[in-house]
Amino acid sequence: MMKPLFNRMALIGVGLIGSSIARAAREQGIVRSIVATARSGATRARIAELGLADQVVDTNAAAVDGADLVILCIPVGRCGEVAAEIAPRLAPGAIVTDVGSVKEAVVRDVAPHLPDTVHFVPGHPVAGTENSGPDAGFSELFIDRWTILTPPEGTDPGAVDRLAAFWSAIGANVETMSPEHHDLVLAVTSHLPHLIAYTIVGTAADLAQVTRSEVLKFSAGGFRDFTRIAASDPTMWRDIFLGNRDAVLEMLGTFGEDLAKMTRAIRRGDGDTLFELFTRTRAIRRGIVQIGQDSDTPDFGRPQKRLPPLPRPYMADGE
Ligand code: NAP
Repeated sequence: MMKPLFNRMALIGVGLIGSSIARAAREQGIVRSIVATARSGATRARIAELGLADQVVDTNAAAVDGADLVILCIPVGRCGEVAAEIAPRLAPGAIVTDVGSVKEAVVRDVAPHLPDTVHFVPGHPVAGTENSGPDAGFSELFIDRWTILTPPEGTDPGAVDRLAAFWSAIGANVETMSPEHHDLVLAVTSHLPHLIAYTIVGTAADLAQVTRSEVLKFSAGGFRDFTRIAASDPTMWRDIFLGNRDAVLEMLGTFGEDLAKMTRAIRRGDGDTLFELFTRTRAIRRGIVQIGQDSDTPDFGRPQKRLPPLPRPYMADGE
């Protein structure tokens, strides 16, 4: 166990990400105590039942009393109003951070409410699943994944280092960049793929109705992998697309042009263009596996069923 890095960690919002942080920080012994809250009484009761915090309180303002680390683990669209609620009760010297999947919008909404006496270091753990709520979290979620910190100019480097040490202690690799750069990179690596998955699953479901085809039955042909992404939380993803509108629109423009090139190649029977792209993308997949960002087991490690042994064939005497 490590020496505690923080005395009192306040978690505002304890869903997939908040509960994973709580579990991991506890296991590593890096905070002396955890105080938590959530919007609804039902979630607060569940946090207490699961024993995720030393104390569960009813309001966001009460949660931050005396905390030296405050983490907003809530949808990005809620960060501004919650910052206004907690600001008067923040302890001087506290580090305030978040885990939101977009960063410029969070900085814009949160920073104006915070007093000069605290350190605001926005963050984003690039790790997750399609599940939500306090039951969905697990302590290993951040291991070997990246957490990006986007401290505004002039932030105390000591505060950034302390927060980086916190994320490293629960298994993450940490990188620092500007909020704008973060949003551009994530628009390509995460937001655009989610938009495509949401669209494809919607289109295929509509087409299935029109053509009465067996979309679900034959989903293993590729559709199934899109449905996992398209099952992600609707509130979170609505906020991401509204919060990162410019970067997503820019990337969608490029994607649209590339899609048009593929459409033309198919229409013209231009196999070389298709083959060249598919060869390039296969190499990208291999690169991701090589740097340890995914497993190389076939079919993403889904367990393969085995055929039951056939009845013993008839064997003639003496064989
Ligand atoms: P989640 O499982 O839906 O949990 C959200 C939590 O926020 C719930 O405990 C909810 O309480 C609470 N909450 C909502 N509004 C609140 C308010 N006004 N005051 C206090 N608590 C409030 O969400 P999540 O997946 O952990 O995502 C949280 C954040 O992490 C988002 O900003 C998201 O962008 C970011 N993130 C998510 C992923 C991912 O894969 N899921 C990955 C990286 C980053 P109730 O249950 O009572 O509503």
